[in-house]
Amino acid sequence: MKKQADIHTVAVHGGTRKDDTFGAVNQPIYMTSNYRIPTDGTPVDWSGTESNIYARNRNINQMVLQDKLCALTGAEDCAVFASGVAALAGVFIPFLNSGDHAVVSEVCYSATNLLFRKYLPEKYNIEVTFVDTTDTEAVRAAMRPNTRLVHVETPGNPTTGISDIEAISKIAHASNALLSVDATFAGPVSLFPLKLGADLEIHSMTKYINGHGDSLGGCILGKKELLAQVKEIAMVNFGGILSPFNAWLVARGLVTLPLRMKQHSEVALEVAKFLANCPAVRFIWYPGLASHPQHERAKALLHGGYSGMIAFDIKGTEKQHQQFLDALTLITHAVSLGDVESLIVYYDKNSDKLPHYPEIFREGFFRFSVGLEAAEDLIADIEAALKTCGLL
Ligand SMILES: *Cc1c(COP(=O)(O)O)cnc(C)c1O
Repeated sequence: MKKQADIHTVAVHGGTRKDDTFGAVNQPIYMTSNYRIPTDGTPVDWSGTESNIYARNRNINQMVLQDKLCALTGAEDCAVFASGVAALAGVFIPFLNSGDHAVVSEVCYSATNLLFRKYLPEKYNIEVTFVDTTDTEAVRAAMRPNTRLVHVETPGNPTTGISDIEAISKIAHASNALLSVDATFAGPVSLFPLKLGADLEIHSMTKYINGHGDSLGGCILGKKELLAQVKEIAMVNFGGILSPFNAWLVARGLVTLPLRMKQHSEVALEVAKFLANCPAVRFIWYPGLASHPQHERAKALLHGGYSGMIAFDIKGTEKQHQQFLDALTLITHAVSLGDVESLIVYYDKNSDKLPHYPEIFREGFFRFSVGLEAAEDLIADIEAALKTCGLL
């Protein structure tokens, strides 16, 4: 049997196309909106995505990125979009019809939450049940005869809750529904939803895949027949496509993803152990700690490490939480995640998202995206900030 290619090798070489014109070693950027069409009478499919006509249908840099993602995940096909949210819409719009029912993770990205709580029901008559998808039986109980989509976010943003993709895929398929998984928090080289039975895998490439905090992007991975619908409806006719330049940036970032994810995971585990033993910490959830409610599941599912995402809270007052953020010097108070540098955001008591999260989160908490810095430097930054606000 042929040895399976190593993920680091695939990350470097997957998808890359040779430049036969000039012999450039690095992938050129094709900043073109259109391509010459044959004039020999060959029939042209003006809305097709299999030939080069117009950059909304297909463009070389998007194709390189898509092929690299397929090579890394084993997916049959991939479509890339201008943002993670455009990729989510690229699943919800093609695969849900008026009158359909969807089961959705209660803990999910804010746009997913708003789409399913408001816009899809109000504008398109989609019925929705939000459930805690880390509880497989809750998913089973939520299924209805008209359920056409189960959408799971795992690890959940921001709690890091882990859902049993394999068990949920069986439940979805028994009801003739598709399972889509937003695996942004783990990235595509740590968790493999398609191999666990998911039909569609979604990532905000803005996060770990690009990793350098300089481009937005989103992708959908899955079987060719499903991706054909995604491309026709969401890409060509809704048009939220990725630019060639951003596709090039994201493909360049993706080369080092396996390496980065290893470092994110190692550093995050050390920082998480420090936080777990710190007297100023009220609680911490990190999938790599035995204290995480789904640690055993995480151990079985997250192959390339537990990723860099930590949720935790400190014991202080609201003012001390603000002082803590202000006192951090290496760790930046900013949204987004999965970047080379550490980022932290605070969900304060007034956040309208808190009621959707498990009990322990409802007093407020931090979402901490651990970067590639040395663990001891991050720990020193946190310790010094806790001392500044009088908690150590
Ligand atoms: C950030 C994020 C998104 C949205 O991605 P954008 O690139 O910001 O549009 C979707 N899902 C999850 C889990 C995210 O963290």
